[in-house]
Amino acid sequence: MKFKKQIASLKAYQPGKTSDEVQKMYNLDKVTKLASNENPYGASPKVKEYLNNIDIDFAIYPDGHASKLRTAVAKHLNVSENQLLFGNGSDENILIVSRAILEPGLNTVVADLTFGQYKHNAVVEGAEVRVVPLLENGAHDLDKMAEVVDENTAIVWVCNPNNPTGTLIPSDEIKDFVEKVPSDVLIVLDEAYTEYITDDTYEDSLGLLKKHPNVLIMRTFSKAYGLASFRVGYAIGSEEVIGQLEPTREPFNNTVLSQEVAIIGLADQAFIAECKVKNNAGKQQFETYCKERNLNFFPSHTNFILMEVKADSDVVFQGLMERGFIVRSGNALGSPGYLRITIGTEQQNTELLQKLDEVLREEGVI
Ligand SMILES: *Cc1c(COP(=O)(O)O)cnc(C)c1O
Repeated sequence: MKFKKQIASLKAYQPGKTSDEVQKMYNLDKVTKLASNENPYGASPKVKEYLNNIDIDFAIYPDGHASKLRTAVAKHLNVSENQLLFGNGSDENILIVSRAILEPGLNTVVADLTFGQYKHNAVVEGAEVRVVPLLENGAHDLDKMAEVVDENTAIVWVCNPNNPTGTLIPSDEIKDFVEKVPSDVLIVLDEAYTEYITDDTYEDSLGLLKKHPNVLIMRTFSKAYGLASFRVGYAIGSEEVIGQLEPTREPFNNTVLSQEVAIIGLADQAFIAECKVKNNAGKQQFETYCKERNLNFFPSHTNFILMEVKADSDVVFQGLMERGFIVRSGNALGSPGYLRITIGTEQQNTELLQKLDEVLREEGVI
């Protein structure tokens, strides 16, 4: 059959083992998954309250314009409703943008390491992918990224804070970068972890949109809002860009339930603020652990940390899994010798770090 030639090289997304599978496999009492940067505190309790009392006619298609959610998000961000694109997670928004813009003959610029979906979707569309290594400190090399932009560059992807390093690009550097890149190149700022940023110097990137209609910001309900299973992401851009993207979106890409729970989650900003404080304390637990054991780590502005283990990542990953903790091996992320661990509750972090000590002792690291 006549499949696109370029997809022959692609592999289907490999999901990690589920908690249930691991529990059975190693005969464990409980398994804690700290692998995909979900919120360890779940979602706002108001979501559960709502779900316990739903009364929805499931035979009817959802609102394809996500009108109520659109109004709520527009109000929350103080942008116009026509500046928003809703996707089945940011993952779908990445697909929509790639589908609308990329094709053979064009190129797109991404960092290495960063979130894998930018490159994946570019390959599907047959575009050339220009990869720029991160700086030593784990941040994007924006100077280099601007340098490789040419007349065929269509999209530049900036993951900020970056997954998997957790590093934040200073706001003035983002500003300089946006000034430098030609105005016919779409600059995507993927801000999946924006709610966790505590840095005083950080300025909300929404301010860039007025002067730079070629900037598109992506945010999601999957991380701090604790609603990953509902699949709601949104992009904020100029009305012009959003208007061009809308026709490439599926008509009913957010379910009735997901629209409702996103509205409820958004309204509970006290919950988000509380999670942010707790996350910051949890981050300290990991940083202290690393410093005491002389393990390198990247300064994180997110709810995960990429830390050195001075051993084979897969072996340490396996050791933790057998002890009831699922994390991400750096080998799977292109960062051998490291683990990416989602910051959990205080108790989860304490237990995990105890188990990590056991594994690192076995491996002769400490
Ligand atoms: C988790 C994540 C996403 C995907 O989020 P969804 O809204 O669940 O699709 C996108 N970008 C980055 C950087 C992420 O870490």
